[in-house]
Amino acid sequence: MITLLLACTVARLPHSSAAPETQTVTLEDLLTPGPLVHEVHISARTEGDLSGLLNLDHPDAPPLKKAKVPIVLPVHVLRREDGSVWVLDTGVTRGFVQGTKEPAKGLLRAAAGSIRGEVGLADIVGERDLAGVLISHAHLDHILGLPDVPADVPVYLGPGELEERLGRNALTHRTSQAALSNHDLRTWDFEAGVPLAGVDKALDVLGDGSLWALYSPGHTPGSTAFLARTTEGPVLLTGDVCHTLWGWEHDVPPGGYSSDGEAGARSFALLREMVAQHPEIVVYVGHETDGVGTGVDEVL
Ligand SMILES: [Zn+2]
Repeated sequence: MITLLLACTVARLPHSSAAPETQTVTLEDLLTPGPLVHEVHISARTEGDLSGLLNLDHPDAPPLKKAKVPIVLPVHVLRREDGSVWVLDTGVTRGFVQGTKEPAKGLLRAAAGSIRGEVGLADIVGERDLAGVLISHAHLDHILGLPDVPADVPVYLGPGELEERLGRNALTHRTSQAALSNHDLRTWDFEAGVPLAGVDKALDVLGDGSLWALYSPGHTPGSTAFLARTTEGPVLLTGDVCHTLWGWEHDVPPGGYSSDGEAGARSFALLREMVAQHPEIVVYVGHETDGVGTGVDEVL
């Protein structure tokens, strides 16, 4: 039996956190169909550097050293039985798709310039009740859609994300912080987490055992993956613990885009082992959805 805990603390601003709740479910329960209806939308398309997406020093890395790889910015929607929805990552805004490029200015506008919007977060959510936003990590390509999120909707992210300013994130750090600070930010308290299917620290997001936040540091300090019990069965949303389907299938972890490659490789290995043990889990990686028109296979 596993003890489930709902636990979050609030980033920076004083705020009353939800009281912990406990219940028990078995691992078998988690791997059966559950109440959530999952949709994935391609909010935008862009390119990534192969050396960032994959560790090219890995013995199984592809035989290319320099390449731009087409990738997507997905938004995952999880609909509850009451009709309310949670989203994982934010894609881009409706305004971005319409050409205003918000919230990018100056250097950020240049950084975001290669991103081609397809459908904004406001249009993905539509008229539905947006109950919460999950951020896999605070890199720009995961939070550009935040201006479409009403200020009173809670936005959850992992510990240390607001402080992370290494590498490619340095230029965008201040704007990322500004975009996040306009919201009801909450940081996962993984110290209260429990072991789940090989992952050290997991938290019950909704309090009913249907959605789990999995502490998966390395790409960034607070990178978080999610395991959802959907009507179609269990779904693992890796975030950027793994960017590409090629990397997932060939057991090659991310490269230079990660701030701590060693920790990231461990988190990647734990998630892969979870799925190896439980092959009924359907996997969605961070920047590819179906392999059609995106990914490493396109450039090999
Ligand atoms: Zn990313």
